[in-house]
Formats: sequence, C-alpha cells, structure tokens
Amino acid sequence: MTNWPESIARKAVVAMLPYSARGGATDALHLDANENPYAPPPVVGATGFNRYPAQQPENLVRRLASIYGVNTDQIMVGRGADEGIECLIRAFCEAEQDSILTCPPTFGYYKTCADIQGAGIVEVPLSATYQWYISAVIEAGRPSDVKMVFLCSPNNPTGNSLTRDAILRVCSELPETLVIVDEAYIEFSDQESLADQIGTVPNLVVLRTLSKAFALAGVRGGALLADPRIIDLLIKVLPPYPIARPVEAAILNALAPSAMSVHAQRLAETLSERVRLAKGLEQSDFVETVFPSDANFLLLDVKNETALLKQLRKFNIKIRDYRSTTGHMRISIGSPEENTIALQAFGVIDIPQSIDRIGETFRKTNETDISVRVNLDDPSQTKIETGIGFYDHMLEQISKHGGFGLTMSCEGDLHIDAHHTVEDTALAFGAALKSALGDKAGIGRYGYVIPMDETQAQVAIDLSGRAAAVFKGEFPTDHVGDFPVEMCPHFFESLAQTLGAAIHVDVKGDNSHHMIEACFKGVGRALRPAFAVSGSEIPSTKGTL
Ligand SMILES: *Cc1c(COP(=O)(O)O)cnc(C)c1O
Repeated sequence: MTNWPESIARKAVVAMLPYSARGGATDALHLDANENPYAPPPVVGATGFNRYPAQQPENLVRRLASIYGVNTDQIMVGRGADEGIECLIRAFCEAEQDSILTCPPTFGYYKTCADIQGAGIVEVPLSATYQWYISAVIEAGRPSDVKMVFLCSPNNPTGNSLTRDAILRVCSELPETLVIVDEAYIEFSDQESLADQIGTVPNLVVLRTLSKAFALAGVRGGALLADPRIIDLLIKVLPPYPIARPVEAAILNALAPSAMSVHAQRLAETLSERVRLAKGLEQSDFVETVFPSDANFLLLDVKNETALLKQLRKFNIKIRDYRSTTGHMRISIGSPEENTIALQAFGVIDIPQSIDRIGETFRKTNETDISVRVNLDDPSQTKIETGIGFYDHMLEQISKHGGFGLTMSCEGDLHIDAHHTVEDTALAFGAALKSALGDKAGIGRYGYVIPMDETQAQVAIDLSGRAAAVFKGEFPTDHVGDFPVEMCPHFFESLAQTLGAAIHVDVKGDNSHHMIEACFKGVGRALRPAFAVSGSEIPSTKGTL
C-alpha cells in the first residue's frame, strides 16, 4: 500500500502530466495565454473576463473549505458534485476492466458516468425497506477491480440515511477501495457530515453540492472532499478552467458570511414544511405510505394513480415518477405556498396550517453587506448581528415587542462610523417587512402606544403604503455606546421609507439610552396590532394599501 492511491488509479492517469493550465492571472504582464488585453463589456459583480480563471479559484476554495471544515488541499471544486463523480471514475476506472459498486435504487448519475467510461457496475440493492446490506457491500467490494463504492446518504430517491458507523466500517474493511459518500442532502439531515473524517480515513471521499440547501443549482457548484493525494489525481483529469468567473462571483456572493443566517432560517423552514407536507399527504386518498425522509423530498407509495396523474396535470405540478424502479413517486419540498398547492392537488381537505408571512432582503453596496429575514408569525426566529451592540439590542426590542422574528446580519463600514450600517439595515428591514406583509389582507393596519416608565414615548403607525416619518424629541447626549443618537430618528425615517408606513414618534426623557429604548419598544408595540391578522379583508376603502 506504499504508493496508494496511485496503485489503484488508471496507469495512464498516473503517468500523465496535468494539462498545463495557467494558475490564474497575477499582477504580471500576461502575454502567456493568447488572451485578449481588453475587458469585454462589464457584467455586474465579476471582473477579469478577458483572462482565464485559475484551475481552482483560490477564494472559492478557501470559502468552501471553511464551510465544510476541511483544509484547502483536501477539496476539489467543480461544476456540481456531478463533476466530482465524473473525475473519480475517469481517474480510477480502466475501461472494460474495472467497476464501481452502487446500492440501487439510488442516484442515477453514478451508472451514467460508469457507462460513459466503459466501467462495470456491481450492484448490491437495498432491502425491501430500503436498508443497506453492509456486509454484502463489503463482500462485493473486495475484488481489486472494484475501485469505488458509492454510498448516497441521505439516499436519493429513498430519503433515508446510513449511520456513520456503517460508513466507517466499509472504509476500514475495504482500505484500498475508495468509499464515496454522496452527501448532497446532508444539510437536511440530523446526521453529521463525514467531512470531519477526511484526514483520518484516507479512502473516504465526501461529495457536497451547492445545488440543494444553498439554492445554486443553476450556477453549478459543488465540492469533493478527500485526501490530498486523491485530490491531486482528480485534478489531473478535471477539464481546464471549470469554474467560470461569474460563477465564482455568484457563489461567493450567495455564501457571504452575512447570508449564512438566512440560509439557516430557510433550512429550518424546509424541515418544518417536510413535517407539514408529510402529515398532509398521509391523509390523501392518493397516498398509501409517506416514507420518512432526511432530505428535501418525500418518497410516496401512491395509489389511484390515473386519477392522481390527472390531478397533477390539472394543477400543473410535476413530481418525479420512479414507478419503474421503486414503484413510487418522489415529491420535492417547496415553499409553504407551493406545498399548500401540492396538498390541494393531492385532495387533502384538512391542510395543516403553517403559512408564515416571511420577507427577505439582501442588500450589498460598497458600504454594507446585509441580509434580513423577517417572519411575522414566528417570533422565535430572531438573531441580530450588526456589529453595533446597542443597536442589536434595540432591534431585538422591536422584534420582541412587535411579536415577529428578525434575522439580520450586516458587515458594515463601522471603521468609519455607524451611519451606513444603521441607515442601510433600516432600509433593508423595512423592505423585508413590506414583502412579508404581501397584499396586507386581514392585517390591522393601525397601531398606537402610550407612555412607558419615567420616559415617555408615544408612537403611532399606519401601514398606509405611503412613507412619512415624524420624530419629536431631544436627546441629552450625542451617543449611547457606539450608537450616535441622531441615528435614532434617521432609523425610523429609513424604515418608514421602505416599509411604506407613516411612523410618528414623540419621546420625552432625560436619559438617551432609556429614550431610544422606549422608541424602539414603542414602535414594536405599535407594529404588533398593525401586523396582526384577523379575517381576510384589506383594511382600506380603496381595496389596496
Ligand atoms: C442532486 C444530486 C447531486 C448533484 O449535485 P450537483 O452539485 O448539482 O451536480 C449529486 N448527488 C445526489 C444524490 C443528488 O441528488
């Protein structure tokens, strides 16, 4: 095993030199790649289009390595997890000689890639209840021409997972064989990723994708995590420059640190929708069984199929038909609204409720990078990080007293001052609230509060659709902590602007901290009845707000 993994790779791949792709553009005068010296017309968010990108763009490698918790030499980035599968089979499977092992029913692309390469397929099917026969996998994986075992966990399309112990047992029983764990859906599962075992278990390869949990299917981005010696072999067969510059920019943007809390909230929503959709589908006359799922889809044993297909056509809904391989159908978890439509199509009368009013805003300028998500119906979803402690505390007051959830991250130019951070987060906050309110059917529209404690803050709000802010009050100091008091009226002005509301605040007192706190609490209190839903009417004689 001294020269493993070369010993199990294709001889031609071990012998060949990598294609001499240039390692990305530098400060040098580049007259080495027959590029055009002029930039093409600009595209927002990316530069350097006239230059070839690096084979493995450094910033992208660093960001994904940090998200997945591996070193930068333990990762290969490519056009989706799919490209990792392609490179593995291309680098290790000799045509007409070597094989891969799969456990069907599973993801179809393993077989497609093997077929393209002329590699064989050894199948160890799952049991009738979709469990893996681990001892059989190990037995069938022993011959030296079986180069790799594909374990998809959570498995597509069955939705269930292998245990960590089972996977590690396969790795240790087949020490010279590559054990590929496809974790395309791991973010939706309670199981931990095996990424933490890269570096300890040399024959373990983990596939991750940005297409599912990170919503980037159209961008094509994924990663393969493995021992650096495996990575080196794979990069030899990776086509030149797989990551286009606009793709790198789009991924870095979508995975910016400020966006991560919104990804986490969306994930939580998908998990709660998975429960709701499963509960609803269990009542459907078209569904015999809903299989348990660790992923963002449900496998269904269906009945009355002709009528079901007719319903789906009527509602113009596509689900995946696996009746030829598993006898079942697979439905992806959509947004709450989409899932409700799906439940209607399945004829569910008593649809479990959960349609939360949610609004998201992403706002990026040279001064601030902000993501905001509000949930008007779930106050438990609150996490605020603007970099200004006092301001975070004030925003918490608004959400707590307003009875809604607020997730906000901002990376702002605080080295200059608090101005841009407060102004831009207020604008983004107002826009997120406005989008969460939707057509405003059934809301209260007006809110009003009265004095509090020794400080008096009177607040009146009208969600009229028209922006107006009136602020009356004199603060005795010019700062509270890092927070300039002049930003208090400015916050309400910016909020009113994007929320489309009239916000009137009148504050009296002799302590700036208390006065500002009273304003934020008061606005929260006034928003609560304004946001509250009763009935479905739009509260205006005009019929629109
Ligand atoms: C979707 C999927 C992939 C492909 O991911 P990409 O990154 O989009 O190529 C890989 N494996 C499984 C099991 C999948 O379901």
